[in-house]
Amino acid sequence: MNSNSLFEKSLNYVPGGVHSPVRSFKGLHTTPRFMKYAKGAYIKDEEDKEYIDFCMSFGPLILGHQNPQVKQAVTAALDNGWSYGACERYSLELAEFLINKIPFINKIRFVNSGTEAVMTAIRIARGYTGKNKIIKFDGCYHGHTDAMLIKAGSGLAGTSTSSSAGVSDQVSHDTLICELGDIQKVEDIFKEHSGEIAAVFIEPLPANNGLLEQGQEYLIALRDLCKKHNALLVFDEVISGFRVAFGGMAEITGIEPDIVTYGKIIGGGFPVGAVAGKAEVMDVLAPIGDVYQAGTLSANPVAMVAGLVNLKQLTPDFYSELNQNTENILSIFSEWMNQNEFEDYDIKHSHSLFWPLPLKSPINNPNMIPSSLMERFHKLFQVLLDKGIYLSPNAYEVGFVSIAHDKKVQDDLKERLWG
Ligand SMILES: *Cc1c(COP(=O)(O)O)cnc(C)c1O
Repeated sequence: MNSNSLFEKSLNYVPGGVHSPVRSFKGLHTTPRFMKYAKGAYIKDEEDKEYIDFCMSFGPLILGHQNPQVKQAVTAALDNGWSYGACERYSLELAEFLINKIPFINKIRFVNSGTEAVMTAIRIARGYTGKNKIIKFDGCYHGHTDAMLIKAGSGLAGTSTSSSAGVSDQVSHDTLICELGDIQKVEDIFKEHSGEIAAVFIEPLPANNGLLEQGQEYLIALRDLCKKHNALLVFDEVISGFRVAFGGMAEITGIEPDIVTYGKIIGGGFPVGAVAGKAEVMDVLAPIGDVYQAGTLSANPVAMVAGLVNLKQLTPDFYSELNQNTENILSIFSEWMNQNEFEDYDIKHSHSLFWPLPLKSPINNPNMIPSSLMERFHKLFQVLLDKGIYLSPNAYEVGFVSIAHDKKVQDDLKERLWG
């Protein structure tokens, strides 16, 4: 069966045929490819068509598909069993490795996804501060927990409403929405809700609604405001952690959040998330403290080993090479776009994250995204798909370059674009 008929069949069994909506190719006027194999920088569909993969599982695969060291370690770990529901050394080793390398954390708890990490961070912040409200920014994504599926209300200023059906008004009431880049609004909200705000959540490099890079001064101002109002600053580094640098945006900016959440790269392609911070904050968690959190498959030994062996490869030299791969690839793409019908495009990027956008000026706020984006993107996506180049299948998702996107792949990319 080809991808089209598999997708038709899947529609009968699975809502929308997919297990995560961003896989659905919505607005792309074509059906999702069913993938059956991936290695290095390449992914192959059921029709045996091979693509250079720039989606890379939406971020985790910074080493490319099937990194040999990860594969070997995972295979070896399997020989010892794949779930104990008990203490084991794999997660201890990963925890120790991370805490030795990231200066502002000294306790960490592993969970199974980025969403779970954020959900736990919210509860820790509330438990630790004894306050209920949280601030989040329009244009940042923090997974699909109720408290984060909130947007600014359309009516009265300062009100918020859910961005998904099924989220109660009580929950949306406790999440306050600010605009990215506007520090005055954050200050106003802190004043308006004096003594009520537990935490400010931000993606320090917002990369889930396009790529909306924020200024250093802005992030510093958030840090100061949180300190002043006894609220915790939470960096959601699920996408930026281990991507822009080992220590994520916290390392790049030198700003220390009170809590950090990780996901994606931390599991090397296996389901892992983590929430970390200072012991004083983290120790509110059960069984020491009274903030409850648990997980049957948390710190799964196979996933822990994958994470550790993945993270051990992320040296300073690794990042130089990865960023060089990205520069090379983006200049190839840019040249091709200029010569073709995409000359209005500019590829926004930070380190190995990139976002093709029909807008030349810098952008740091979702309001600045051109309204033509969807229509323009579906053409770009289709042309590249036909050439065997797989972008993230959504106009608002960034692309990812891995260490496997090396010189050979770069030459192949040229071949595919102009060949
Ligand atoms: C991907 C992502 C999440 C959600 O992680 P899942 O593993 O998909 O639940 C949360 N926050 C950020 C910043 C992300 O990029």
